[in-house]
Amino acid sequence: MLMPLALAPSFGFGDRLGLATAGHIAAVRGTKFAPIFAQQSVRENTRTGRTPQQVMDDARRAVDAAKWDLPWGADADHLKTVEDLLSFVQAGYTFFTVDPGEHVDNAADADPSGALKNKVAKFDWDELSALYLNQLDDPPWGQFDEESLMRASVKYGRAIRHAASMFNRLSQLKDAFDFEVSVDETDSPTTPLEHFYIASELRRLGVRFTSLAPRFIGHFEKGVDYIGDLNALDSELEKHAAVTTYFGTYKLSLHSGSDKLSVYPLVVRHWGERVHVKTAGTSYLEALRVLASYEPDLFLKIYSLGRECYEVDKRSYHVSASLEFLPNTSDLPSLLNDFHAREILHVTFGSAIGKFGAELKSALIKHEDTYNEVLRTHFAKHLNLLQAKNESG
Ligand SMILES: [Zn+2]
Repeated sequence: MLMPLALAPSFGFGDRLGLATAGHIAAVRGTKFAPIFAQQSVRENTRTGRTPQQVMDDARRAVDAAKWDLPWGADADHLKTVEDLLSFVQAGYTFFTVDPGEHVDNAADADPSGALKNKVAKFDWDELSALYLNQLDDPPWGQFDEESLMRASVKYGRAIRHAASMFNRLSQLKDAFDFEVSVDETDSPTTPLEHFYIASELRRLGVRFTSLAPRFIGHFEKGVDYIGDLNALDSELEKHAAVTTYFGTYKLSLHSGSDKLSVYPLVVRHWGERVHVKTAGTSYLEALRVLASYEPDLFLKIYSLGRECYEVDKRSYHVSASLEFLPNTSDLPSLLNDFHAREILHVTFGSAIGKFGAELKSALIKHEDTYNEVLRTHFAKHLNLLQAKNESG
């Protein structure tokens, strides 16, 4: 049943080629996670040349073939404008991820006080200060003083209003849906205090959101494990979790969630089942793993194109791989375990699909069983860690 998943623990499987859902079903069957089988951003649709309807049709076909009769969702990911909504609504999507990042004022972190005061004049400062200053309790996410409240409201104020206008428009178009607000692609991490502010203001504006994706400290790069200090992340997540617990109405959403195996135990400890994890490109990388083993000529063409296109294609992503550190190896499958090769192959998917899409798809259809099994194994690693009982209490 395609339906909103509300607060059930959920896992998003992006599928850029339209051939991965069977493997995703094999992986998620029997776990506690409600799956999102259709999930694509406007950016991905542009790069893969697919429409929201095609992404939905591919997922639905696999769902029917596998006789999956439990709830599942379809995520219209990283929507930026009101105009983005309609084609996803018409195609039956149930989960709408709104990314108001373009309306975040990143300069607010460092604006001198004169500039800050000019900017804050556009907001109802009396109302904000009455709501957020001089709170008596001492919450784990911290307290606002006048300056930090000004910075938070300038930084996120317009973005929050934009998210609210998208919610309002969607409410006119659709009765029931999951609504996520994501600020994971902003320039700086979301502090726990800013997280509190965003959630509180969204609620004040009547936005009924089911999940929220902050940007956490350290680096959540595509298709590779977390880069950063796990202890520092752990104590930061504890404060973020205090915010979600305080409101109690939404899930924590972890974007760029694929392959963050070292972070999952922390997420489980702090959020338990109140979590949504989003993955996308890792299923494409698993497709390339199949090619590396069984269709090496095609793999080498894609790998060589990836090296050509990397410097341009990487511009809209947070990645740190470097062409000069690529391993010199004839063991092609081992490239799919290498940090640099993974990121380079990951962000150049649009170029690869543009040039070799038809060959890529027919190769995967030819090796369908292998692809399903590779996906099942790959996601079992993710889902097992996310399902693990919290051992430290
Ligand atoms: Zn994201």
